[in-house]
Amino acid sequence: MNNAIYNFQTPQNEPVLSYLKGSSERDGIEKELPKQVQQQIEIPLIIGGKEIRTGDTDTVVMPHNHGHVLATYHKAGPKEVEMAAKAAVEAHRGWSSLPWTIRASILLKAAELISHKYRHVMNAVTMLGQSKNIYQSEIDAVCETVDFLKYNVSFAGKIYESQPKSAFNQLNRMEYRALEGFVFSVSPFNFTSIASNLNMAPVMMGNTTVWKPATTALLSNYYLMKIFMEAGLPGGVINFIPGKGSVIGNNIVKSNHLAGIHFTGSNGTFNFLWGEVSKNLTHYKSYPRLVGETGGKDFIFVHPSADIHEVAVNAIRGAFEYQGQKCSAASRMYVPKSLWPAIKAEMVDMAEDINMGDVTDFSTFMNAVIDESAFDNIVSYIDEARTAHDAEIIAGGKYDKSEGYFIRPTIIETTNPHIRSMEEEIFGPVLTVFVYDDKDLDAAVKLCDTTSPFGLTGAIFARDRIAASHICEQLRYAAGNFYINDKPTGAIVGLQPFGGSRASGTNDKAGGEFNLVRWISPRTIKETFVPATKYKYPYMEE
Ligand code: NAD
Repeated sequence: MNNAIYNFQTPQNEPVLSYLKGSSERDGIEKELPKQVQQQIEIPLIIGGKEIRTGDTDTVVMPHNHGHVLATYHKAGPKEVEMAAKAAVEAHRGWSSLPWTIRASILLKAAELISHKYRHVMNAVTMLGQSKNIYQSEIDAVCETVDFLKYNVSFAGKIYESQPKSAFNQLNRMEYRALEGFVFSVSPFNFTSIASNLNMAPVMMGNTTVWKPATTALLSNYYLMKIFMEAGLPGGVINFIPGKGSVIGNNIVKSNHLAGIHFTGSNGTFNFLWGEVSKNLTHYKSYPRLVGETGGKDFIFVHPSADIHEVAVNAIRGAFEYQGQKCSAASRMYVPKSLWPAIKAEMVDMAEDINMGDVTDFSTFMNAVIDESAFDNIVSYIDEARTAHDAEIIAGGKYDKSEGYFIRPTIIETTNPHIRSMEEEIFGPVLTVFVYDDKDLDAAVKLCDTTSPFGLTGAIFARDRIAASHICEQLRYAAGNFYINDKPTGAIVGLQPFGGSRASGTNDKAGGEFNLVRWISPRTIKETFVPATKYKYPYMEE
């Protein structure tokens, strides 16, 4: 019996490898990529630790070469959704009662497997399946995934060690129970690490999950599931059910064991799930915890004291890395008239210089957007700007979906701060710039705060530190992750806990204790050593 009170140290963040020509990691990934390109795997459902093939199949393709099939996958129907919920409920008793250090050791083993044995595999499948270049994949599929796993172990330890005081004659303690039931984890296409964390955060706290992965991230997500199993995760703790969102979502909310939803994706989907939960509320054994990180309309606000070159470089990286498909990607920008000509010249040069193409070409900065419906949606904003009287496309604007879903990095300059591309989430490589008169600084800050319903990330660039701090205060609710003189993307687990409020979600800060707290239902236990022996109180006596 292991009865140690164990204290996991705060981990070091996983180092981001360089992949320089001639390095061993470059050699490793260059060998893994062709292997993954050449094979076509079959992805089953995994319920209760067992593979299930429904025969209702579809394909996973490369976004940058959509004629190339990477995998076929089986889709869950209502019957499999019910099976998955049942398997999760059955696994709950064993998993939630295990000593937490054993659960922690499985997470740490998974982190170790991803950091070493499967580093190249996880990068290759994320690169090919989600169209990420090696750098974008390395910071996501490997580094952030490993960081989430390791940090959550250390955060869990901090939660467990927090205990109430005990007065004389009594012992008080807090038992950090897992939620009663299962958690429905719904993951987006854009980050392999998020898919891992949406499951492994509740799992660390003793919960079991039913996992609906995004179809366009299935390849990497399936490998993740296999790695979790190799790390020792018992059958039924995570139940992997690819398939149509509506089929799975509609059926899972009917289970009275639904104890929580851990979601990252669009507002439409989260709002739908929230609505369904509300409709079924009286049916559940407990109130489901709803944790959702949704969209963003992330901004860069430039103060007249800003450094021109720093603004231009960070706007390009913040807006166009991973084709603007990060929830934190800069997609609107406010620039003072005095600085705009110089910033514009630099940004246009850089945007036109960007190399875009296949992920196996290591000179690319950008690759393809995820699928045809994303492509068509993004293009609609570009086409609208092309014909608008109050907007001008100053860089990019070209696109082609004949082989892969490629859209050039596009910068729109507008005189209308409420043009659609300034207000709505586009989730693609489109940045809209509104140029304000330097004397209207306060009005421009107000515009930035009130233009969109979101509140995810935002950045201010200023050399005037007092002005930066003043604007930071004025934009208090405009972003849950706020940056001073840095791009609004690239939050690192343990260093910048991530999440936003307003329409951007419930702001439970992924990669932090706040998130883990949502997956426990504490029980307070008071034990009295000297129980009462008289019902009357002393004041009642003569
Ligand atoms: P999406 O909402 O289309 O899909 C997310 C997941 O929900 C997928 O697995 C999808 O299959 C599933 N789904 C769809 N309909 C469903 C239903 N009716 N029931 C159950 N599941 C259903 O989002 P996406 O396109 O994968 O991701 C992009 C969105 O994610 C953007 O809006 C982006 O801002 C957001 N995002 C937010 C964060 C954050 O931390 N705030 C991080 C990453 C992505």
